[in-house]
Amino acid sequence: MKKYRGTGGSDGIAVGRAVIIKEADIKYEHKRTKTANEENSRLIAALERFKSITAKMADDMKQRVGEKDSKILLGHIAIADDPDLRKETQKLIESGKCAEEALETVFDRFIDMFSSIPDEMMRQRATDIGDVKVRLLHMLIGNNPVDMASLPPDTIIIANDLTPSMTAGIKKENVSGILTQMGGRTSHSTILARALMIPAVLSVKGIVNEISDGDTVIIDGEKGDVFVNPDEETIRKFLNAREKHLKAKEKLFKYKDRNTQTADGDDILLLSNIGSPQETDAVKQSGCEGVGLFRTEFLFIGKNTPPDEEEQFEAYKETVLALGGGTVVIRTLDLGGDKVMPYLGIEKEENPFLGYRAIRFCLDREEICETQLRAILRASVYGDIKIMIPLVTCIDELLTVRKKVKNIMTQLDKDGIRYNKDIEIGVMIETPAASEIADILAKEADFFSIGTNDLTQYTMAADRTNSRVEYLCSAYNIAVLRSIKRIIECADKEGIMCSMCGEAASDVRLIPIWISFGLKELSVSTASVLQTRKTISLWTKAECDELADRIMGLFCQGDIKELLEEHARF
Ligand code: PEP
Ligand code: MG
Repeated sequence: MKKYRGTGGSDGIAVGRAVIIKEADIKYEHKRTKTANEENSRLIAALERFKSITAKMADDMKQRVGEKDSKILLGHIAIADDPDLRKETQKLIESGKCAEEALETVFDRFIDMFSSIPDEMMRQRATDIGDVKVRLLHMLIGNNPVDMASLPPDTIIIANDLTPSMTAGIKKENVSGILTQMGGRTSHSTILARALMIPAVLSVKGIVNEISDGDTVIIDGEKGDVFVNPDEETIRKFLNAREKHLKAKEKLFKYKDRNTQTADGDDILLLSNIGSPQETDAVKQSGCEGVGLFRTEFLFIGKNTPPDEEEQFEAYKETVLALGGGTVVIRTLDLGGDKVMPYLGIEKEENPFLGYRAIRFCLDREEICETQLRAILRASVYGDIKIMIPLVTCIDELLTVRKKVKNIMTQLDKDGIRYNKDIEIGVMIETPAASEIADILAKEADFFSIGTNDLTQYTMAADRTNSRVEYLCSAYNIAVLRSIKRIIECADKEGIMCSMCGEAASDVRLIPIWISFGLKELSVSTASVLQTRKTISLWTKAECDELADRIMGLFCQGDIKELLEEHARF
């Protein structure tokens, strides 16, 4: 048995047989034997065939997955229809090249052009043009494309990368998992895999050469683990885990369209955490009521330059429109700590979690901060967008952002650009300092959101990325619980909404404690929405209060954990 580690791309466990997807070689005779007219007709025929097959695939995709995902394929048709690409190709045919060589030369030129632009959207466009090019060349050469629709049951697809057109042909009944060498969490193929709910592990270097057709493969799409030719015991263990996972998921599905309410009918607003507009599909699928935390730093990571105002505006607008104008809480850039962006020229620091990061960075780098605020304000006319400031430690930070927002509003008025004049500005309470001054902050902020991940790390002085102190970095500590209770009381006193968006918001052991403390809003990862809704529905307020009273009377972390575990409902 061999074990590998990649990036978890789509949740779930898959056990199956490997089918290696390697496209047939693209080989053609460069010497032309046909006339220019004949070559031109071959090109036109291939383009027409491509469009008709792709339109069918898009239609199928629309039925099975949804309109948004089928649009990727419609984009491919638009590429095949692009008059510039066609004109340039025909020009080369006129100059003596065969259709294959003319097409490859022109498409490569466009791919080079798009991939040289340091922008993720442009690079994605280069990938899409490459996908169209390869399929058109196969058609011209006469190669039969891989028939993804007729793969044997329990297939684990092993591929270098999965293009959208390949993923689109997949039948969920046959494909139990996807394993690729390339790709990231926001690449198109990953988005589609998630939409199809097929477990996927990405970025496992060299895996195509490590696996043979027919090998038994296990993938864990959450952790990113891969096992090749595992022993019987490992297979049994993962089959059991898969069974459990599927059963639990299936049962939870009935909570999709329910209201989020306690057993005695108190409403809780349940929102989702996202890192990109593409994740709104998962938000909708989970029956969620909006986005309580949009981690905008993921728009900045993995690039060479920060996204400009237009790109950010489009991302925020797309997100809020995808949710029908519902709530989207956009957090301003929270870089630093473990989220590094080398192109921003930040010097290496001794203590990055205590350093030049989040709102501290934004208030220093005005152009980045103001560009983002302007993009958010412009998008605010499309729905219920709110601004949230991370890592606040003093009131000055909130007041400075307010002043900036006001100045940008004046500029927008001058430019005749619309925005929501009453946009709410809230703060994350995720430092002990913010917790200490929660009473003061509550007078100036429109809302609070408790970031339990950082609040725990800073309260316990235990680095959240250091496994040696992981036992301390836990919300099961009375110091953290007291802090959270007080924060909620301060918000209540001033009549502002207090939400929670750290991982503890979806911890089934802690949910009754949050209800007892009076939290009315939770924002959790999309994968946790249904379980969170279910757990909330299993508790009455009186039961939550009784448990919380007992918990708050304990001092040892071990005792708190034990009592919470004993009472966990899921
Ligand atoms: C948190 O700190 O709890 C939080 C939600 O933000 P992040 O995990 O992005 O730091
Ligand atoms: Mg945080």
